[in-house]
Amino acid sequence: MQSEIARIKEIFVSTQGEGPYVGYRQLFIRFCACNLSCRYCDTDYSYKNENRVYSPQELLDFITKEFDPAHIHSVSLTGGEPLLHAGFLKIFLPMLNTKYYLETNATLPDKLYEILDFINIVSADIKLPSATGLNNTFEKHDEFFRTVRTNPKINLFAKMVFDENITEEEITAATNLAKKYDFELILQPKMLNNEISPSINFADELFSKCLKRYKKVRLIPQVHKFLDIR
Ligand code: SF4
Repeated sequence: MQSEIARIKEIFVSTQGEGPYVGYRQLFIRFCACNLSCRYCDTDYSYKNENRVYSPQELLDFITKEFDPAHIHSVSLTGGEPLLHAGFLKIFLPMLNTKYYLETNATLPDKLYEILDFINIVSADIKLPSATGLNNTFEKHDEFFRTVRTNPKINLFAKMVFDENITEEEITAATNLAKKYDFELILQPKMLNNEISPSINFADELFSKCLKRYKKVRLIPQVHKFLDIR
């Protein structure tokens, strides 16, 4: 069935700038639209007239013509929220022989379930209301991580964007989730105009606090902002 289509903002090769895969060369497919609206969002995922609508076959043709998969580590499915396009992905993902790296806000477990067998790496978010300005989504995250763990082949980690407003309850909830589902928790300081917005001292103290609760915690800022690449 080839009736699914997806609105795609951009397709490009660049270097992963976040989390434990920082520095790997990836082909990024940025999907339009998101189900959240985080206060700190720095991504233009809106659909504009110049963006294209692709069928799975059209996307495959475009990628195989324009890019050489031999020179990339994996294909990053990003957005926006790529899981809003799960119907499209279910058809497209098995068409290309590559590793898939899913960047997701981790709030759509049912959609993830549809494509779980094709994903190799899940880069999930843990959204903190103190940073996003949104309601708490910890229950959705819990359901999401439970779904990921039904596929033991997936390498899962989660990034947590924070600023100086982070609360004790959020620290406890995030480290408990990481412990429960046994994944690396990446503390990612919020960036403001390409500068880290919480102070370095604050970030370091938070790092120590989290490490006391859970060992697999790392502090990794957005490296692509320093390199000035997308
Ligand atoms: S989930 Fe990601 S893409 Fe969506 S609004 Fe939040 S930061 Fe932006």
